[in-house]
Amino acid sequence: MSEQIQETYKHYIDGEWVEGDGSETFESVNPANDETLGEFHAGVESDVDRAIEAADEAFDEWRELSHIDRAEYLWDIYHELRERTDELGEIVTKECGKEISEGKADVVEAAHMVEWAAGDARHPKGDVVPSEIGSKDSYMRRKPRGVIACITPWNFPVAIPFWHMAVALVEGNTVVWKPSSVTPWCGQIIAEMFEDVGIPDGVFNLVQGFGSEVGNPLVDDERIATVLFTGSSEVGHAIADTVGGEPGKLAACEMGGKNGIIVTEDADLDVAVHSAIMSSFKTTGQRCVSSERLIVHTDVYDEFKERYVELAENVAVGDPLDEDTFMGPLTTTDQVEKFGQFNQLARDEGATVLVDREDLDDAEIPDGHEDGHWAGPFVYEIGYDPELRCLKEEVFGPHVALVEYDGDIERAVEIHNDTPYGLSGAIISEDYRQINYYRDHAEVGLAYANLPCIGAEVQLPFGGVKKSGNGYPSAREVIEAVTERTAWTLNNSKDIQMAQGLSAEITTQDD
Ligand code: NAD
Repeated sequence: MSEQIQETYKHYIDGEWVEGDGSETFESVNPANDETLGEFHAGVESDVDRAIEAADEAFDEWRELSHIDRAEYLWDIYHELRERTDELGEIVTKECGKEISEGKADVVEAAHMVEWAAGDARHPKGDVVPSEIGSKDSYMRRKPRGVIACITPWNFPVAIPFWHMAVALVEGNTVVWKPSSVTPWCGQIIAEMFEDVGIPDGVFNLVQGFGSEVGNPLVDDERIATVLFTGSSEVGHAIADTVGGEPGKLAACEMGGKNGIIVTEDADLDVAVHSAIMSSFKTTGQRCVSSERLIVHTDVYDEFKERYVELAENVAVGDPLDEDTFMGPLTTTDQVEKFGQFNQLARDEGATVLVDREDLDDAEIPDGHEDGHWAGPFVYEIGYDPELRCLKEEVFGPHVALVEYDGDIERAVEIHNDTPYGLSGAIISEDYRQINYYRDHAEVGLAYANLPCIGAEVQLPFGGVKKSGNGYPSAREVIEAVTERTAWTLNNSKDIQMAQGLSAEITTQDD
């Protein structure tokens, strides 16, 4: 892959680079300076149809390979991700604006997911299960489901595609992938990697483009066995509704969050402030696990507020390629607009604004980056009220509410859980009883104590509850969404014996 894209880039279907049937193209833009990074062909329904057909045809041969043989292709990709981490990390940063250590971490996380999936190929598969009948052997075995549609967001443009695809491929499925139209350059590079490692034609297919033209027909096609979706709740729930009406088809959707951190009266405030700043502002607040709510006990509220606000006033916003930057720009102009609208909503709902860096001072914007999608922290305090939209809806930016509470851990967790989402959260406390209460009662899929609520690792399940997910997490547990289980029982006797005391005797009228 060249450092800078030079041509109009194509789809990768059935082992070929093709322009597709559409006449439209779209651009990838660097959010730090609004410069065009490259141009891409936008896919249409017939391109999706061709990609699904190729994946469908490739499935029979691919599933006949052993797990270990399939994993060999992934090991080659693992080594490429490792060897090219710096180069690819820079491309992630250029295309989605996260600061450079995060750009590289995105690639490292992808490598970890590939390593986990490929390594898992040599681990035992399924379960040996006891039977009531001594002469029967029972097993739980897994089979691939078929063609998997993978639809991914822009905020982890290398890691999340591999959350979806690595396990799906090792388990014997074939894939049609639609990356976000915001990060097609990362999509191009990943497809080139699959080509480089010689994956058989049709096993992996890439169709670039938009949700309406590519995503919709992919979700609707009856040849798709599972839709793996990571992105917004609006799109994810619509996909889950569509797929839910089609018997035998599955949708595994991982969506947004309105994540909270509880700081109790027993918190170590160094840990609290550090964790909260990381959770609020890493990736410019554009992680699904970013925290937009800090729920702080009244006994420590003033000190926490003073220290948190001082840091939020000063965190370094700037060129994401500069190693001294803490926060890069927002990724899209839509995000800048949404951030501004929610900041205004908070004001309208009665917030007292503590930090307002929505419009950065000219002096803060690096030279040559005047057209970037800049935004700094916006922090406010507001009294808890279950009716407040600013405490319930995901902004996906550096927009943070401080909420003071008085009372016990039960009260803090009640406020924490009062959102339709349930992705990630944290408690900061030195009291193990408070920590354990939070662990057992916080309505989230990812819970942390004395840590930021970001930073998941691939060997754990990754997924939310309530509006954040539908129970098929990403990362290692995605296996549930891309395989079917067979309860397999073998009789080692010539006699047929049944469980539960069911008679196996066949009686006739003469008996
Ligand atoms: P998005 O929902 O706008 O887009 C996600 C993907 O869906 C993109 O590829 C997009 O093109 C596609 N899409 C859009 N409309 C579609 C349609 N009608 N049919 C099929 N596909 C369609 O999300 P985004 O803006 O790319 O990402 C940000 C969101 O993702 C945030 O809400 C964030 O919380 C969430 N997210 C969740 C997780 C998680 O694991 N829970 C991880 C990262 C991001």
